[in-house]
This record gives sequence, structure tokens and C-alpha cells, in this order.
Amino acid sequence: MIKDGFQPTIGLEIHVELDTKSKMFCSCPNDPNERHPNINICPVCMGHPGVLPVINEEAVKKTIKVGLALNCHISSYSKFDRKSYFYPDLPKGYQISQFYIPLCKNGYLEINGKKIRIREIHLEEDTGKLIHDEKGRYSLVDFNRAGIPLMELVTEPDLKSAKEARKFAQELQLILRYLNVSGADMEKGQMRVEANVSVSKGDKLGTKVEIKNLNSFRSLEKGIEYEIQRQINVLKSGREVIQETRGWYEDKEVTESQREKEYSHDYRYFPEPDLPPLLITQEYLQELKAEIPELPSQRRERFKKEYGLEEKEVEVFIKNKDLGEYFEKVVSELKNWTKSVEFKRKLSSLEEKKLIKLCANYILCDLQGLLKKAEITGEDFLITPENFAEFITMIYEDRISSRIAKVVLAEMFKTGADPSHIIEEKKLIQIRDLDEIQKLAQKILSVNQKAVQDYQSGKTNALQFLIGQLMRETSGKVDPQKAEEVFKKLLQKY
Ligand code: ADP
Ligand code: ZN
Ligand code: MG
Repeated sequence: MIKDGFQPTIGLEIHVELDTKSKMFCSCPNDPNERHPNINICPVCMGHPGVLPVINEEAVKKTIKVGLALNCHISSYSKFDRKSYFYPDLPKGYQISQFYIPLCKNGYLEINGKKIRIREIHLEEDTGKLIHDEKGRYSLVDFNRAGIPLMELVTEPDLKSAKEARKFAQELQLILRYLNVSGADMEKGQMRVEANVSVSKGDKLGTKVEIKNLNSFRSLEKGIEYEIQRQINVLKSGREVIQETRGWYEDKEVTESQREKEYSHDYRYFPEPDLPPLLITQEYLQELKAEIPELPSQRRERFKKEYGLEEKEVEVFIKNKDLGEYFEKVVSELKNWTKSVEFKRKLSSLEEKKLIKLCANYILCDLQGLLKKAEITGEDFLITPENFAEFITMIYEDRISSRIAKVVLAEMFKTGADPSHIIEEKKLIQIRDLDEIQKLAQKILSVNQKAVQDYQSGKTNALQFLIGQLMRETSGKVDPQKAEEVFKKLLQKY
């Protein structure tokens, strides 16, 4: 998107903590929830002299899966290198990474129909964590995180707006979650995004600035937007953008310079002598390919086609994978029901679509509302797909009104009970007998003479009042539309 005559360009560097049992090169547990500092450590991840690292195969597998999902070429031969620098959170004085030959190369991820090229994905290890005293008197270091498998993904500078960059990161997060390789929560630091931003007028790309501290999708978008405008202002005033690293400050909503750019030769990369190269055979690749599940983009298309849902509805099910899978189970129960003996007629495809739509609506509105509340109180989810499907059929067949449906669902949610039991026990069965409704309506009319007069003198909302009275009398067991018809007919004769 051109802004003030300038074309923004963005490339992302994304670090992902892999969800593995142990660390990248030793058998220490990889437990991000460990509260006690410096207990998941050993001589290997502390870099003591004479120790030997061993490659974690689970981390390699997970990285290859991401590479396959992102259409990368997987290197049949790759290796590890040492990236040397000094920092107190780096016990060895170097980080083991892949500099010369990364595990995955030349892939892409499609965003809004546009291919964003991925330059490479490689494996490395995380650093420890520094905890600074608020008053600046001292800093503490926790090495539990040191040596945790870290995957780094680098895109080509193909993104053209802050929104597009955000979309890319969000889609990547979904893929990582579908592949079960990482929680990929940005707020928890499981997925850390750095954005390289430049602006230019011609074909030649401008000088880039790297932005750090982008700890949420919101700050990713905001930080890039701010940086684009800052660079445009710099160029417009006749100055030059300098290549540097800047930090995003959430509270002030600005980027500020942290340090001038360092170059790869500053790190003195050299081959890691203690690790063998990684050899990936075709058989091994085929095995991993077979383990790749349905990915978000595929599921998106399938949900649209198979269930005829709107884009917005589909997106909720894609983002909330568990909810989407629950929906599918309920739909399959519904299909069983329409084929069962007690259901004697065959649904037309239009009717079936209506039934599925009804089901999606109840899951997306009513059930999600209950689930959100339960999240706070920590309640378990007790409704089986069978029971939920039965509940939907009751609404579909008009056995319960939408008002009663809310009562039934709330009870199902609380106890996990069968909807038919709840209806019987609570005597919630819909009154459908026309004579009975007429009798009840007659009673309401006789004790609400004022409303009858009002209605006859042209105040039509008196009718609503009368319907409301009938609902109260029967605790909502009459279909409001039917009640309206009955009242209109009775009032004509009154
Ligand atoms: P460096 O040599 O400084 O590390 P790279 O060429 O390796 O730079 O690129 C690092 C990241 O910056 C990549 O994600 C890449 O897409 C992005 N990038 C490179 N040049 C630009 C540019 N002019 N504008 C925006 N992003 C860029
Ligand atoms: Zn260790
Ligand atoms: Mg580089």
C-alpha cells in the first residue's frame, strides 16, 4: 500500500520456541512453566568444558514439518554453526545455530492470494532470561530457558503493509498450532516477531530498520505503522534513514533507537565441531509428510464447501480449532440422526443446510457465550456431541422454542445431562395443541380487559403485552408466533 508516494516494504524474522520434552542439545526438561529458577540446567546447557551436545530429534522433526507446511525445500544435508557473542544470558559465550546451511529453504506462505516468500527456517537454541531489579541495583539470571529449541523463520521482503505483516504472523501462528509444534503465544514469548521496515519511491528498496519488542499482534501492526510514518517523515525532511535496531515502546506508542545495526561478520560464525551434520533421507521426509495434518487454509476451504458457512463463521472455527472440531462431530451426529429410523423422511439438501446452519449458530452464539463464562470459573465442558446434536434436532423440529432452548442448554452445560431428560424433568415440553393454546389465551384475555380495549382502540402494542402475559403464564412454552395468531383471531371475535 503506497503511503504519501512511498512504498513500505517489510520482512519478518520470527523465533518460535518448540514444544519438545527436552532441550535442544541435552536432556534437561523443556518446561516453560517452571517457576523455580536455574533447576532445569546441566553441564551441557551451561557450557562447561569437555561436554558434548546431542541433537534433539523431536526438534528437527518439528522444524521439518513447519518447512513442509510452508512449501520449503528441505536440505538433505545441513549443519550447525557457532554464533559467538558475549551476553550474561548466554552461558556458553556462543549460541549454536545454523548459519551456512539451514534445514529448510525457499518456501512461501500464501496471504490473501499472494505468495510471501520464506527465505529459510533454521534451528537454534534459546538464551536464558535476565530479570532486572526495578531500581537498577542488580540483575538476576535464570538459565532454565537456555538451550530450549528455537526455530527461526526469515521471510523475503515481500510484505507491503503493517496489516499484511500482521496477517502473515497470525496465519503462521495457526499453522504452528495445527502442526502441534508450539503454543506460539506471542504474549508468552513462544513466538517472537522482529520486523524489518523500509520505505522507497522507486524499485530499489530503501534502508531498513529492525524493530524489536513487538510482543503482540497489535503491537506488531502498530509498531510497523509507526515506523513507516517515521521513515517517510525523515525522508521528506531531506534527511536519511540510518540502518539500526529500534525498540517499540507500547506505552508511548513510538519506536526508539537501541543500537546501530550489527553485521554477520561481527559474530565470527564458524562450524560447530561437536555436532555431526544432519542427513535427511527421502524416506524420512515421506514419513514426516504423512504426519502433516489438515492445515488451516485447507480446512477453511473445506468448511466453506462442506457446510456452506459464511467466511466469518468459518474463521471462528479455524481460529478456535477445538470448537471447529466439536462442530464437525455434532454435524456428523446430526447426519446420523437424519438417516435413523425414527426420522422417517429424507431431508432435502436445502433442509440439511438449514440444519447445519442452525447448529453453527447455536455453537457460535449460545455455546460460545457459555464457554467464555466457564473459562473464568474453570468449569469443565460436559456436553457430548450426541447430546448437542439431539438438542439441535429438538429446535429444528420445533419441539422446544428458542426461549426454552436457552434454559435447556444452560442446564446441559451445568450437568451434561441429556436434553430430553431435562425437558421431561423440568416439564419444558412445548405446548403445541391449538385448543390448549386457545384456552390459555382466553384466560389471559379475560383478566386483561384493559389491554383488550387498548388493542381495539388501535394500540397495537397491547398485543405484545398479551403475548408476554401468555409467555409468563406458561414459562415460554408456547411459540410466540403461534400465540400471536391465536390472539389475533380471538380478538377479532371479542
Ligand atoms: P541482514 O543482512 O541485515 O541480516 P538480510 O538481507 O539478511 O539483512 O534480511 C534480514 C531481514 O530483513 C529479512 O527478513 C529480509 O526480508 C528483510 N529485509 C531485507 N532488506 C529489506 C528492506 N530493504 N526492507 C525491508 N526488509 C528488508
Ligand atoms: Zn541441560
Ligand atoms: Mg541476515
